[in-house]
Order: sequence, then structure tokens, then C-alpha cells
Amino acid sequence: MDHFQYSGGMLHAEDVSVSEIAAQVGTPFYVYSAATLTRHFQLFSEALSPMPHLVCFAIKSLSNVAVLKLLGQLGAGMDVVSGGEYLRAKAAGVPGDRIVFSGVGKTRDEMRMALTGGIRQFNVESEPELLALSAVATELGTTAPIAIRVNPDVDAKTHEKIATGKSENKFGIPIAKARAAYAQAASLPGIKVVGVDVHIGSQLTDLAPFEAAFTKVRELALQLRADGHQITRLDLGGGLGIPYTRSNEAPPLPVDYGTMVKRVLGDLDVEIEIEPGRLISGNSGLLVSEVIYVKNGEGRDFLILDAAMNDLVRPSMYGAHHDIIPVIEGTPGSPTQPFDVVGPVCETGDTFAKGRDLPLLAAGDLVAFRSAGAYGAVMASEYNTRPLIPEVLVQGDQFAVIRARPTFDEIISRDSIPEWL
Ligand SMILES: *Cc1c(COP(=O)(O)O)cnc(C)c1O
Repeated sequence: MDHFQYSGGMLHAEDVSVSEIAAQVGTPFYVYSAATLTRHFQLFSEALSPMPHLVCFAIKSLSNVAVLKLLGQLGAGMDVVSGGEYLRAKAAGVPGDRIVFSGVGKTRDEMRMALTGGIRQFNVESEPELLALSAVATELGTTAPIAIRVNPDVDAKTHEKIATGKSENKFGIPIAKARAAYAQAASLPGIKVVGVDVHIGSQLTDLAPFEAAFTKVRELALQLRADGHQITRLDLGGGLGIPYTRSNEAPPLPVDYGTMVKRVLGDLDVEIEIEPGRLISGNSGLLVSEVIYVKNGEGRDFLILDAAMNDLVRPSMYGAHHDIIPVIEGTPGSPTQPFDVVGPVCETGDTFAKGRDLPLLAAGDLVAFRSAGAYGAVMASEYNTRPLIPEVLVQGDQFAVIRARPTFDEIISRDSIPEWL
């Protein structure tokens, strides 16, 4: 569910007309709904109750500081995968004891930053990382709380580029080697074991792989306790998928996920951490774009938009589908026609959709890509020297630009010409 709907024939974000935002901000832009973000966070939090839990928003899916502040004020923790994301969480006012640090390649500088600024736990993904963290913590005279990310060798049955829980993936320590890794962790100075971590992939549309992974984590946690470790937290990662089409998809809801988690892990006397990204942010955002030209090709018509693959890369990177809807609602029964929806970038891959049935749109019309809140703005680039597009946050009848469009001067002045040229 989201808070983008037609009212009086015009698409609205909550109570704000999308075309009014376009008139003020210019296209293309991302717009997020505070009510939808809030609702999705709360659905997860309620789904895990009454187990002690912390819902840590995966910042990498949508990292604007205003969004982080909104979620942080609701009590969310944050899952960060870089020093930059850590600083974003802090800039949003999220306390260190609600920030977990994930990722396979944490540098010593990043470890230092988090240990100095405050951190809930590091999710450690390899033995060399464990040794580095021990050294950094010891040097700072402090202790790093850790969970080890185990790779349960479970097939998440999702897109190969976002599956992370198979033994061939780069993530985590193979679960069969976990006991040895925990024994090593317990023997190292500056390290305190607090839990076990797992994250098997993204956009999962079935609970079975989660349940298989969590069942393995359960067995491991019991074994580790028998080995003498204090396992007080289980971090279950993120990955629950969202419907990208309105029609035929029905991925499990947070409440079903929560019921399963409680069934599998409810008796363990642990605090549950989860790291949802997409399910909180995905359907909370639209990408709004204007039609520049309608071009009649050989046997097909192209809708050339002012948004491109550099603004929203998911279709060209993952072959992902986004519903595209007109900002002015088509009247029932009005004709449609198939369009290839493309951007202006000089790549054939700059194609959002092929043969998509849309109303008879013309230059100057606005369209919106649904489900663009996650892995949209954060993956954008300035390819073709196209400025990063603005982000707008709506709450009720008010909206604010939460990241402005840079000027070309700002973009070009970041380059510098060596004096010997
Ligand atoms: C990407 C990622 C997430 C979030 O995944 P979603 O599919 O957006 O929920 C959570 N945890 C880790 C470690 C990740 O890498």
C-alpha cells in the first residue's frame, strides 16, 4: 500500500498534486511519501512484536538524510555499509547504539570512525576483517561488539545480481566454518561476540528461503551457546520483496514474515534485528518525468522522457519492471497504445520499457514511475553530465525539496585542470 493516488483526475503524493511539485521543482525528480515510509516501518515493527527487536533501515536503498531523520524519529535503527552511510545516519540524529555496520570490505578508517562515534554492532564477514577490527579496537582502547555474518548456502530464488546467501557469493563466512570463526573471535582482544547475522538477498518473494536460512541460524545459535558464547541478538538481514506491478504479484507481507520469525526463533530469548530497505522505501517513492518527444519509429513509437538510466538504473541493470502511469489520469475507456519508453542517454540500454501500453501521451505530458523509492536516487549517476535529480518529501499537504538539483556550474567546477595543461 502507498499514498500515491489520483484525486480529481490528477496524481497526488498524499495531499499534494504531483504536477504542482513538477511546476515548482522541474522534472525529472523523485518524490517520497512520509506516510508510506512511516507505515512500512511500523508494519515491520508490529510484525515482530512482542519479541524484543530493532528494525534497522538499510540506508543503501534510500539514503537522503531527511528520510533517515523521519525513520530515526520513529525509533528505527540503521544498517550502514560504508563510512559515508554511517555519517549520514549520524547526521540524521540516529544514535550510534542503533547503527549496525554491514559489508564485506570495511576499511580500518571506517572501523575507527564507527568505534569512535558509537556503534551497536559490526556484522563481520571474514577472518581478515575480524583481525583488522580487533587491531583497530585494541589500538583505540575499546571493544567492538560483533555478529558474524554467516552464509547459509540457501538459494534466495531472486535475481542473480542480488542473491547473497549461496556459497558462491562473496558474502559472509560459510556456516560450516562459523563455530571456528566464533572461537577465534572470542579469543581476540577488543572483540565482544553479541550475535549472529545473516542476509540472503534482496527482492525475495517467498518466505521459504528465509525460513530455511533462519532455521540454520537457530541451530547455529544454540550450538554457539553450548560452546560458551553469549548470543543475545540475531540479525536476520533484509530482503523481503515488494510488488513492482499492481496486478499479479503478491509477495509475503511483513506480518507473515514476522509470524514466521516468531515461529522459528521466538523461544530463543534473543533480540531480533532486521535490515529491510526496499520494503520500507520502494513503494514510498515515485520518479516523475516529462515526455520530451514522441517519436514514430519503424513499427513502434518511442516515448522519449527527460529521465534516463542515470536517474533510475534498475531497468537497464536488472531488467527490472516499473509501472509507468500518467500524471493526468486516463478516463476509463480512453484509447491506449504500446510505447517503447526511453531516456535521452546515448546507450541502447537506456530503455525503461518496451511495448508498454500507455494512454496517447504527447510532448509535455508527465509520467510517474511507481516503486522507485528504493535503489533509485541512490544509484543515480551524472552520466552524460546529467545533474543528479532533486528529491522531494511530502507529508500531508506539505512538501519540501530534500536534495536540490545541482547547477551545471557546481558540477563542472568539481573538475580541476592541472596547471601544466
Ligand atoms: C542490501 C542489504 C539489505 C537490504 O536489502 P533489501 O532487499 O533492500 O531489504 C540489508 N542488509 C544487508 C547486509 C544488505 O546488503
